[in-house]
Amino acid sequence: MTVYLVGAGPGHPELLTLRGAHLLGRADVVVYDRLVAHELLDLAPTGAVRLDVGKTPGRPGRPTRQADINALLVEHGRRAATVVRLKGGDPFVFGRGGEEAEALLAAGVPFEVVPGVSSAFAAPAAAGIPVTHRGLSASVTVVTGRVGGSDPSGGVDWASVARTGGTLVVLMGMAERATVAEALLAAGRPADTAVAVVHWATTYRQRVVRTTLAGLADVDVPAPATIVVGPVAALALGPGDA
Ligand code: SAH
Repeated sequence: MTVYLVGAGPGHPELLTLRGAHLLGRADVVVYDRLVAHELLDLAPTGAVRLDVGKTPGRPGRPTRQADINALLVEHGRRAATVVRLKGGDPFVFGRGGEEAEALLAAGVPFEVVPGVSSAFAAPAAAGIPVTHRGLSASVTVVTGRVGGSDPSGGVDWASVARTGGTLVVLMGMAERATVAEALLAAGRPADTAVAVVHWATTYRQRVVRTTLAGLADVDVPAPATIVVGPVAALALGPGDA
């Protein structure tokens, strides 16, 4: 009778937390997303029910609506002893995990949040980019790149973000990368500001593209990718494939 909102980490299966692995090992039901490493599902007992609720961007018809996912969690949470809701990265960073927690709270279903390693920090790190670095960046801001979205919270104030300085990490930003670059340039970030695009970070498919704000629009890398903007994006402190 508990739903665990578990962060699966950024991609590599070994970046799951020990608590996440422990809970998966005794799960009756696993509800998982598209970006979650499939090896993780093997950690659940053979008899566990595995439910794919992945949303595939750009494929209408296929996506499971958030309201349906919430209802599914409530339903299984009432019946099964251990429900693991496995979400990419950290469940509370742009994963709509907060909405799932609200639904469980409203329904009186006990739940626990198990934090995960977010791609917001793991993707830059895997590319050898420290998001803060003495002398280069004293702050890091994480934003969504869904500029045209219908987010009722009002979206990102790009002018303020540009003025803040420091490192900017953009999640879900590839589709709107040209608009994001334009907004930052218009707000005064120099055209030669270093940019790195990290695709499928921490997995065998990882690819890192280095460019500048002026060149971001021309980077043709599919999702999932994390965009890092700022002087630290020029660093490559590791073996990576930079
Ligand atoms: N809750 C997740 C983020 C969900 S939003 C977390 O904390 O990581 C989904 C976005 O995360 C993607 O569009 C992409 O920008 C980023 N992302 C997720 N996995 C990634 C990976 N392996 N490599 C690079 N970016 C990734």
